[in-house]
Amino acid sequence: VAIVFGSINIDLVSKTPRLPLPGETLTGHSFATAPGGKGANQAVAIAKLGVPSYMVGRIGGDNFGRELLASLQAAGVKTENVLVDESISSGVAAIAVADNGENQIIITPGANGRVDETDVERLQSLLKIPPNPPSHKGGTNSPPFQGGLGGSILLLQLEIPLSAVIAAAQVAKAAGIKVILDPAPAQNLPDELYPLVDIITPNETEAGRLVGFTVDGREAATEAAQALLQKGVGNAIVKLGAKGVVCATQAETFFTPAFSVKAVDTVAAGDAFNGGLAAALVEGLPLRQAVVWGAAAGALAATKPGAQSAMCDRPTLEALMAT
Ligand code: ADP
Repeated sequence: VAIVFGSINIDLVSKTPRLPLPGETLTGHSFATAPGGKGANQAVAIAKLGVPSYMVGRIGGDNFGRELLASLQAAGVKTENVLVDESISSGVAAIAVADNGENQIIITPGANGRVDETDVERLQSLLKIPPNPPSHKGGTNSPPFQGGLGGSILLLQLEIPLSAVIAAAQVAKAAGIKVILDPAPAQNLPDELYPLVDIITPNETEAGRLVGFTVDGREAATEAAQALLQKGVGNAIVKLGAKGVVCATQAETFFTPAFSVKAVDTVAAGDAFNGGLAAALVEGLPLRQAVVWGAAAGALAATKPGAQSAMCDRPTLEALMAT
């Protein structure tokens, strides 16, 4: 199974003729809400691929929270470990998108900002659930799990407090569970986190932030991936959008090209990549093949608008990989 410990946000998107100036009130063209948050997006990506997916995180006691929970559940994500925090709002991203494509985003973490050691305790109890719990509703192709969630993977991102991310990685490490860290949005990380991470998956901007030099293209990405190994991660995957993926393991460094698709909106392509990667690893595939799943899921997400609504199902993924 895959367990996502991370953020759950609602995106409030207004289309506007241009971005507002300070103090100005603008009339927008249209408005839509869309469930998002890097953690929730990754959990949905995994569930849609037919792999059991558990979400651990927090929503507020508001209507957005109920909408967010419903979106996770509709995709088949297990939400028993999503806490409703009545004392605060759900995480909200207020987004203005101008006609020229420029955007302006205000993220208010709300309940995501409250994720702390009590959530890590819920994660820990989840790691102790018995093998094949009767409530399982995973894909028919999922292999049986031995020793509780022993063959499982924990997915982390950086939209919740860093102290909780580190504590969750420690708990997973102690339980022998592999950790995938998406170091997004870009920020510096403490040295202690790297050795707890089996696979780190920055894009170019995030990789540049972590290694301290500009990462633009394949050559710099290769150097960055190797620098991340030096910091103690098991494997480093640098996502280069339509330019493909560079992956450095202890044994080799390889490049995986992007699938050629007609991109309309790359929002959440990175989340789709991590979901595809994790789903393949849970199914027992080797890393090289898992990177191909990630690249296919990322490419498919780029062909659709939105975040959770852009995540592909298993037949669509397999069809693209067969091309
Ligand atoms: P992020 O969303 O984190 O910035 P990327 O933009 O690099 O990450 O996208 C993640 C992955 O999704 C890429 O590594 C690639 O495999 C796939 N992808 C993204 N954009 C495209 C695209 N335009 N064409 C094909 N694949 C894409």
